[in-house]
Amino acid sequence: MKIQMKTPLVELDGDEMTRIIWAEIKKTLLEPFIDLKTEYYDLGLKNREATKDKITVEAAEAIKRLGVGVKCATITPNAERVKEYNLSEMWKSPNATIRSILDGTVFRSPIIANGISPLIPLWKKPITIARHAYGDVYGGVEAYLPEGGKVELALPDGSKKTVAEIEGGFIVQGTHNTDKSIRSFARSSFNYALSRREDLWFSAKDTISKIYDRRFRDVFGEVYNGEFKEKFASAGINYFYTLIDDAVARIMRSEGGFVWATKNYDGDVMSDMLATVFGSLAMMTSVLVSPDGNCEFEAAHGTVTRHYYRYLKGEETSTNPAATLFAWTGALKKRAELDNLKELADFSSRLENAALDTIAEGVMTKDLPPLFKRENVVPRGVSTKEFLNAVGERL
Ligand code: NAP
Ligand code: MG
Repeated sequence: MKIQMKTPLVELDGDEMTRIIWAEIKKTLLEPFIDLKTEYYDLGLKNREATKDKITVEAAEAIKRLGVGVKCATITPNAERVKEYNLSEMWKSPNATIRSILDGTVFRSPIIANGISPLIPLWKKPITIARHAYGDVYGGVEAYLPEGGKVELALPDGSKKTVAEIEGGFIVQGTHNTDKSIRSFARSSFNYALSRREDLWFSAKDTISKIYDRRFRDVFGEVYNGEFKEKFASAGINYFYTLIDDAVARIMRSEGGFVWATKNYDGDVMSDMLATVFGSLAMMTSVLVSPDGNCEFEAAHGTVTRHYYRYLKGEETSTNPAATLFAWTGALKKRAELDNLKELADFSSRLENAALDTIAEGVMTKDLPPLFKRENVVPRGVSTKEFLNAVGERL
């Protein structure tokens, strides 16, 4: 008998090569074993056009209602796509729409397979990074004063603070953030660390920025003490605040195995560094977590357009399905946790292990052999289908 589910998952289908892989994963690795229950939303660009993008909003509302979603990569239209798909409008990025409805934070974690080792040998476990996606320099205003002058910060109470008074050219920048956004970010971060049962680190530069960065630190502290301290204690995990430069130094010598919440700019820079150290975009998963704990799982990469055009010509492609597969297992595990379905949770872990073991024993898509190093194992690059079948056999 197949594994039963209680509540459906919200399934958000997508575009191009990942849409093909999506169907293959379901057919080869999920439907033969699980009585898969999903509420299906087709976010493929054709259907976004047909529904005037209402489908994206409906899918986000469904995640709010059901708690867990899994999303295939989707095209974010640009001028070329508007032509290619004959669009009536340049629809917004679905990820941006969903993120604003869920008020969520994106967490990125690497998939670590034996043989695909991080460039930093000490790192044994994933480091998940969360980037605050609001404000700071991304919502800043700037000016260049070639002749110099005086710049003041005028506050609503009528008082003023001098930013700079300089003869000769200078530059200034005004940035902001809000209590509300920082609080949501903190809640999402604590919730996510709790669901992974890993410590949460948060870093800023409050020794230098005594009001701005200090406010971040204080809000995280308030949310932790008020809402998460006991939950963390019973899960056996810790919350750790440290200065950003100290965090970087500690991370370099760590084993990994924690969640790192970062301010907007720090996350922008550090997420690219982490992705590179852990190997490949095709081995990076991503979860959007709302402050009240709703989750949407996806691969960090896009729709792999170049492979899709080859697929359309009839070529068998070797596109790595790992991140999309782990989006499914992540979502199934979360569903299993919420509905208390041990069999489903165990199956999801077995499926992840089958994929990791397949790679570790040398069978992988063609993006990975150049990164693979394991004694007595010669890596073999195979097609997506062959890889999924090998995982299926092992399962
Ligand atoms: P991409 O789809 O991530 O692919 C860029 C390149 O990275 C590919 O050409 C391929 O390199 C390699 N790659 C990425 N994923 C791979 C995988 N699973 N297996 C093997 N190789 C992989 O980025 P893009 O080409 O810039 O964007 C394509 C479309 O995706 C765009 O329309 C964009 O809007 C959309 N996008 C969506 C999301 C999302 O939904 N979350 C995120 C990013 C981009 P080689 O060609 O060298 O093999
Ligand atoms: Mg970046």
